[in-house]
Amino acid sequence: MTIKENISLLPYNTFGIDVKARLFIEYYSLDELRQVLKEHKGEQILHIGQGSNLLFTRDFNGIILHSGMARARFIDDETVEAQNGLRLDDLIAQLTDMAYCGMEKLSLIPGEVGASAVQNVGAYGVEAKDVIERVYTMDVETLEERVFTNEECKFGYRDSIFKHELKGKYIVTSVVYKVKPGEASKTREEIIQTRMAKLPTVGEVGSAGSFFMNPFVPEEKANELLAQYPDMPHFETPSLEGRVGERFFKIPAAWLIEQCGWKGKTLGGAQVWPKQPLVIVNANNATPDDIIALAAQVSTSVKEKFGIDIHPEVNYI
Ligand SMILES: Cc1cc2nc3c(=O)[nH]c(=O)nc-3n(C[C@H](O)[C@H](O)[C@H](O)COP(=O)(O)OP(=O)(O)OC[C@H]3O[C@@H](n4cnc5c(N)ncnc54)[C@H](O)[C@@H]3O)c2cc1C
Repeated sequence: MTIKENISLLPYNTFGIDVKARLFIEYYSLDELRQVLKEHKGEQILHIGQGSNLLFTRDFNGIILHSGMARARFIDDETVEAQNGLRLDDLIAQLTDMAYCGMEKLSLIPGEVGASAVQNVGAYGVEAKDVIERVYTMDVETLEERVFTNEECKFGYRDSIFKHELKGKYIVTSVVYKVKPGEASKTREEIIQTRMAKLPTVGEVGSAGSFFMNPFVPEEKANELLAQYPDMPHFETPSLEGRVGERFFKIPAAWLIEQCGWKGKTLGGAQVWPKQPLVIVNANNATPDDIIALAAQVSTSVKEKFGIDIHPEVNYI
């Protein structure tokens, strides 16, 4: 394993925030992971992937854990198991080259395999939950391995059991995805082109992708807003958990933010990305406080104009 003390986290988060971590440990096998967890039992641990959905708000006084395990193997012709540290897009590129399809709509989403299950990443109508068969994990306390079926992961919109009931309790060690033989290179290429035209390129412009999640509103609220804003985009969604029988509509947060006039606006070094207002970027040496303040102003103005709460998708650390 690799152990570094008191290091800058700049290379480990796509927002480009330069804070420090007391300890950074990268492991290369399950035995090493078990050893680290045993030695550092009770200490504050944050397992990261590519750091593409994190906003470090200050120095991290605990241990940053990262996986150096990055292999994938076919279990059979319909399932592939990938280790947590493999970049999701590298996996999709390999599968596409080998003429396997099913995951191509998730092309170019930054991040690693482990986080794809935690975050239930999604794009262009496909979510990780549609292609995940099961998830292998290690219990941080007991150090035992546990397999979660797709159902047990309780996937939702950018959500899973690993973000709530079991937050910080399990480390995703590998993910089994469903694939099938088929040509996907054309779709993959189209998606890459579309994403590159709209989203900031990792490594060039600091960001964590969509800063906010799209809100869901009850039918009554949607109708009230539609009377005032007839052009408001809205999409009926399946009933929310615990609200069976009620109709809900998803309103694109990007539209709400744009209507409030935020497109391209800056605060300190942070900016609402002109090509996609759902994204906040580190335009010019932004501090965490610049980003936090801009995000807070954006959500306050959406609340004031539309009476809708929008919540960050990004994990504040
Ligand atoms: C330019 C850009 C575009 C993006 N576009 C999209 C998009 O289209 N769709 C989308 O869904 N997301 C998008 N994102 C967000 C991001 O890509 C996803 O959230 C991704 O899953 C984050 O992966 P990561 O490896 O960087 O995880 P990190 O950001 O490092 O971690 C995210 C969370 O997962 C936890 N975690 C990471 N690895 C593990 C593990 N092995 N076990 C347990 N917990 C773990 C972390 O503790 C943290 O809570 C985008 C981000 C950027 C920068």
